[in-house]
Amino acid sequence: MAQHDVDLSKPVSDEVRKTTCYMCACRCGIDVHLKDGKVRYIEGNRDHPVNRGVLCAKGSAGIMQHYAPARLTGPMLRTGPRGSGQFKHISWDEALALATDWLGEARAKDPRKLAFFTGRDQSQSLTGFWAQQFGTPNYAAHGGFCSVNMAAAGIMTIGGAFWEFGSPDWDRTKLFVMFGVAEDHDSNPIKIGISKLKKRGARFVSVNPVRTGYSAIADSWVGVRPGTDGLLILSLVHELLKARRVDLDYLARYSNAPWLVIDEPGAGDHGLFARDGEGTPLVFETVTERPVPAGTKGARPALSGTCQLGDGRRAVPVLELLAREYLDPKYAPEAVAAQTGVDAAVIRGLAAEIGRVAFEEAIEIDQPWTDVHGERHQSFVGRPVSFHAMRGISAHSNGFQTARALHMLQVLIGAVDCPGAFRYEPPYPKPLRAHPRPHGRAEHFGSNQPLSGPHLGFPLGPEDLLVEEDGRPARLDKAFSWEAPIAAHGLMHMAIANAHAGDPYPVDVLFLYMANMAWNSSMNTAGTIRMLEDIDPQTGDYRIPKIICSDAYSSEMVAYADLVLPDTTYLERHDCISLLDRPITEPDSVNDAIRWPVVAPDRDVRPFQSVLIDLGARLRLPGFVDSRGTPLYTDYADYIVRHERRPGIGPLAGFRGLGGDRAGRGAANPDQLRRYIENGSFFSAHIPPEAQFYKHANAAYQDFAVKMGFFDTPQPVTFQLYSEELQKFRLSAEGLREPAAPEIHRARILAAFTPLPMWYCPLEEASVDREAFPYHAITQRPMAMYHSWGSMNAWLRQIHTKNRLQVPGPICDQHDLRDGDWVWLISHHGRIKVPIARTEAVNRDTMWTWNAIGKRRGAWALDPAAPEANEGFLLNHLIHELLPPKGDGMRWANSDPITGQAAWYDLRVRIEKAEPGEASEPRFEPVNEKADRPAELRYGQEWAK
Ligand code: SF4
Repeated sequence: MAQHDVDLSKPVSDEVRKTTCYMCACRCGIDVHLKDGKVRYIEGNRDHPVNRGVLCAKGSAGIMQHYAPARLTGPMLRTGPRGSGQFKHISWDEALALATDWLGEARAKDPRKLAFFTGRDQSQSLTGFWAQQFGTPNYAAHGGFCSVNMAAAGIMTIGGAFWEFGSPDWDRTKLFVMFGVAEDHDSNPIKIGISKLKKRGARFVSVNPVRTGYSAIADSWVGVRPGTDGLLILSLVHELLKARRVDLDYLARYSNAPWLVIDEPGAGDHGLFARDGEGTPLVFETVTERPVPAGTKGARPALSGTCQLGDGRRAVPVLELLAREYLDPKYAPEAVAAQTGVDAAVIRGLAAEIGRVAFEEAIEIDQPWTDVHGERHQSFVGRPVSFHAMRGISAHSNGFQTARALHMLQVLIGAVDCPGAFRYEPPYPKPLRAHPRPHGRAEHFGSNQPLSGPHLGFPLGPEDLLVEEDGRPARLDKAFSWEAPIAAHGLMHMAIANAHAGDPYPVDVLFLYMANMAWNSSMNTAGTIRMLEDIDPQTGDYRIPKIICSDAYSSEMVAYADLVLPDTTYLERHDCISLLDRPITEPDSVNDAIRWPVVAPDRDVRPFQSVLIDLGARLRLPGFVDSRGTPLYTDYADYIVRHERRPGIGPLAGFRGLGGDRAGRGAANPDQLRRYIENGSFFSAHIPPEAQFYKHANAAYQDFAVKMGFFDTPQPVTFQLYSEELQKFRLSAEGLREPAAPEIHRARILAAFTPLPMWYCPLEEASVDREAFPYHAITQRPMAMYHSWGSMNAWLRQIHTKNRLQVPGPICDQHDLRDGDWVWLISHHGRIKVPIARTEAVNRDTMWTWNAIGKRRGAWALDPAAPEANEGFLLNHLIHELLPPKGDGMRWANSDPITGQAAWYDLRVRIEKAEPGEASEPRFEPVNEKADRPAELRYGQEWAK
């Protein structure tokens, strides 16, 4: 047999263990093949509801993640200066005792002294609960710098959102329109879905400044200028309204289109809904010609005109206001073409196609169902146009309103949760009022009590903000303050800058999990590093005195930790992909899943979630100890099985009840994890056929949701085309409603908080000299990599080891640039020297590069000569966490003013040809210079260890 031939007579594995992938956020089912107790290879689980056996490059390379030389090997205490990478190994007893001391001191002084932020954490239901029990308001995960605009706008408009909360109806859609999507999110389902579209001959349109990944295989590519998607969408709405391609019956039944809006400029209730004595919004009944409560049986509500309420106030239906706004010629395709970079004919053609497919190719499923008003329908009618969007539209300072505009478009054509359109994934839809309000205080402040509720939620108006009596933010990241009122996922990107500045207050301990804040997860990377290193001359200590990091790998951030709590890999621990957290359900089924230790750790590492539970017990946090101080849980596995958020509702929905025969609600089952493992590490419950569509208004679905424990009573959703919550903030900014907005915040609120979706120029673009910085620069996520983990993976590094700045051909010609040349890319904040590649597949004003390939020398156990650490680069150095000064005495966050979403994609730049180079700039001193690194890494060699 030749040396490289495979001996097929020998089994490649002696055992297969089924678990859940964590090589990206998609959470596919995987079969891990083991040979002699080592991971031999990984394949897709064909029975799994998420991926149906499909495995991507990242997923199969999980083996190299598991055996990566960058894995941390034991707890460490810093011995040299921050960033030096000088640590000593300590025992877990010492590490946990020290962490308990630091955290306990902070809690005793003031729980706010702890800031706990987690990165792409898939256990937020636990980490959030822990922080709540600790009593600090300063907790969030990474959503504020990812896609909170998309999530918050979706929940506030249709009670759901793209990706984890919904999906295109891949089997029936005839026209699929995708706006700016990160290719590492929902990766396998989108690939499977697009292949279905291609097989059926359905049309796929991609709206994205960059034609790569999914856009490269779209039937039509619309190369929109970054930050103008919202204007493009409103122009589509203009065209659809003009052509009367809107579903009036759907609007009257399921949206607030007929609700009456008070039209009394200058009054404290102007722009709010007219309501009856019970608080139910009113509609104008066209037969009896009087206002009646919305939902009155048999009422035919007016959708246009004006009317007078019983007390003499004027009122207007929402749809009248909407039509007045969007029929304005300022939204005509010709009027927006130059701004969006999309020809008027393309906009007009896309609008016509959306309207034609929605109304002339409608589909019907012969399935009787009953709506929440008791009306029986003989079939599900479908408008087979579906949309999908993610970070591309989110990561702008106008992204919330853009995402709202896209959901408004879906509702106008009747294409939400019907056959062929976007469909909800349970536990969504969920109306705004069923979400919690944000909480930032214990019932009795300073008494070591838990917060009175969860940190993250949705304010229904300024009265729900987390601000002190003088208006100052209650949270370190200023979420839910006047600066970012609807910051539903927090502002992790502001945590270090605010802690360093002591604004609104200093903290004692920064506790990070899986968050590479000293490198690719921060704006203004060099500035962030300086803040982490900065010493307070008065105390002689670091300005952020103590940093605890938990991570599985030696990231750039680990070098800045004072105490390192090493995590396991995803194949060595329990995890819970919970309905209480970020679901993996499908439109037709309710799913959740687990991970479990398919191999035992061979290092002195512990699963972070178990460590957190241990710390909770050592700190005697309520919820983690009983009344005598005895720990409630032995580890995360025990917590997953026995913790109950409400009676009968725990982290996992499947195999509940003592016999394991209950789904959703039921007593804790000590055998639950074994049942999951036997079932392939997931659980699935099918939604009854009569409950599968129109879930927002479907009586059978609402009953199913109550039975499963999503809600305790039915929670139907009325689509909110017009947002009364946003109007309340406007009234506060006008001084017409209490609490009045502080003067300094008023102009920003009035500019951004409109109750109907609108478009405004991204804030960085509006504040810099557009001639000095004429281009956009954005990042794309490589499909083969996920954040910084992927780009240290030995197999995935064969796909990308360095990135180039992709520059449009005409800009290359203008600056005499060829492939491989070096340029200075300059923003209002900084300059980087990088190599370029010429491309034609991009918007003419936009340059782009892959995200998170560039590494700091010495990090991630890569050779300091590795291409990632030399030619590789980050755009982060050009992006400041604050906007340029405006002359109002404030430095505003570079974020969406509504949600606080980090505006990564608002970056404006200019380009200058540079001398040829060997390495990108800026350069940084290496971290972890003395770390052991293999001279060569190969799978077999590593596996044989
Ligand atoms: S798409 Fe993500 S979760 Fe699925 S196999 Fe690939 S890396 Fe794993």
